[in-house]
Amino acid sequence: MAQFDTILHPDFVVPIVPRYEVLPAHSVGIKGDTISAVLPRAEALELEASEHVDLAGCVLMPGLINSHCHAAMSLLRGYADDLPLMTWLQRYIWPTERQFISSEFVLAGSELAIADLILGGTTTLVDHYFFPEVTAEACERAGLRALLTFPVIDVTTAWARDTEECISRGLALRDRYRNHDHIEIGFGPHSTYQVSEETLARVAVLAEELDAPIQIHLHETDDEVLSVVEQSGMRPVDLLEKLGVLGPRTQCVHMTALGEQDMDTIATHGAHVVHCPRSNLKLGTGVCAVQKLLDRGINVALGTDGAASNNRLNMISELQTAALIGKTAHGDPKAVDAWTTLEMATLSGARALGRAADLGSVEIGKLADLIALDLSGVQHLPLYDLASSLVYGTSGSEVKWSWVAGRCVLRDGQLQSVDYTEVTERASDWSDQLAAFRTTLEQ
Ligand SMILES: [Zn+2]
Repeated sequence: MAQFDTILHPDFVVPIVPRYEVLPAHSVGIKGDTISAVLPRAEALELEASEHVDLAGCVLMPGLINSHCHAAMSLLRGYADDLPLMTWLQRYIWPTERQFISSEFVLAGSELAIADLILGGTTTLVDHYFFPEVTAEACERAGLRALLTFPVIDVTTAWARDTEECISRGLALRDRYRNHDHIEIGFGPHSTYQVSEETLARVAVLAEELDAPIQIHLHETDDEVLSVVEQSGMRPVDLLEKLGVLGPRTQCVHMTALGEQDMDTIATHGAHVVHCPRSNLKLGTGVCAVQKLLDRGINVALGTDGAASNNRLNMISELQTAALIGKTAHGDPKAVDAWTTLEMATLSGARALGRAADLGSVEIGKLADLIALDLSGVQHLPLYDLASSLVYGTSGSEVKWSWVAGRCVLRDGQLQSVDYTEVTERASDWSDQLAAFRTTLEQ
C-alpha cells in the first residue's frame, strides 16, 4: 500500500500557522482525511502515493470557512435590492419565505449555494435556515463540512409552529448527526428581537448541557439596538449576558452597531464575532469595527451572509472587502491587513467553531481541508507578496482545486460531487415562480 493517498505539489504553500510563512516548492501529503506531511517538493516526488497532483502555478492554503450563511436564500439572489434592512425583510423576504419555504425550496437553494461555495473555496459552511435537515443532507452528499445552526424564532413557519417545535426538531437533528464526521448541528436563535428572553435563556442552558455552538444575529443596526433597549431596558449584548447566552460557544453575527462597552462585554465572555462586510455594505447597516475587536483579543471570523444580501457567496471576495473596509473604518491603512483577513477566513473560523485543533491551517495532523488557487495569470504578476496577491489581487475565480477531509470536491475547476447542470436547471425553475410572486409584492 502507498504511503500517501495523495501528494499535492503547488508552487507555494501558505500554511497560515505560523503566521506570515510562505513555503516555496513544498508539497503536502494526505493520508485518509488527514494532512500527514509538509515537505520540500524534491523529497515529496520520491515518495509513494496513489496520486501525485501537479499544481504548477498554484498556491495551496487551508480551505475557507464561511462562518455565516443562509444557503437556501441563493434562490433570492438579486430578488430585492438597494433597500433598508427592515423594508427588505418586511416587504420582500419574509412574505416570500411565508409563501414558498418548503423542503423543496431549501433543497434547490442549498444545492445552488453549495456549488457556488465549493467553486469559491469554501470547505466549511456555517448555515442558518429553515429545514436544516435538508441542507445537512445536501452538504453530506456534496462532501462539504458544515455546522447547521437550526432556527429558533418566535414566528410560525412551514418548518415549525413555534420555538418549542424549533427546539425539538433541532435537537432531534443534532441527535441524528451526533457522530457524523463532517456535519454538526448547533443552535440558531435568530436575534434578540425575534426570540423571547425565556427562550434565549433556555437555549443557553441546552447549549451548555450539550456543549453545542450558538449563532445569533446581533447589533446589526442602531434601530435594532434601540428597539431592544425600549423593550427590555438593556442593550442586546447586555441582555444576552444576563440570560447566559454569551460565552466561548457563541458566535455573534454582524456587530455593526457597537459601542466600546459592548466590545468589552464580548471580550469578557470570550464570544466570537462573525463579520459579514459585503452584506453590511449592501444593506447600509454600517461597518463592524474589526480592528478594535481584534485589539481587544476578540476572535473575528468571516461570513458572506445569504446571497440575497450580498449577492455573492465567495469568501475570497469577502476577505478582500474585509481588508479594504477595515482600513476605512479604522482610518489606518495598517488596520485589518492582508494576513489578518486570511486568518479570519481560515483559522479564526475554526476557532469560532471550537475546531482550531483540527481545522484552519496546513499542519501535520490537521484535517485535509485544502484549496489551491491559480495565481499564474498576468493580474498576479510579479508575485512579490503572496498575501497581497491573495487578498488584494484576486477576483474570486482563482480557486481551482478543493479537498474536504482529503476528498477532492473540485478538480481543476470541475465540481466533483455536485451535478452542475441539475443544480442550475432546478434553480431556474424556481426563479420563474419567485419572479411572478415578487410582482404581486410590488403592487
Ligand atoms: Zn444572516
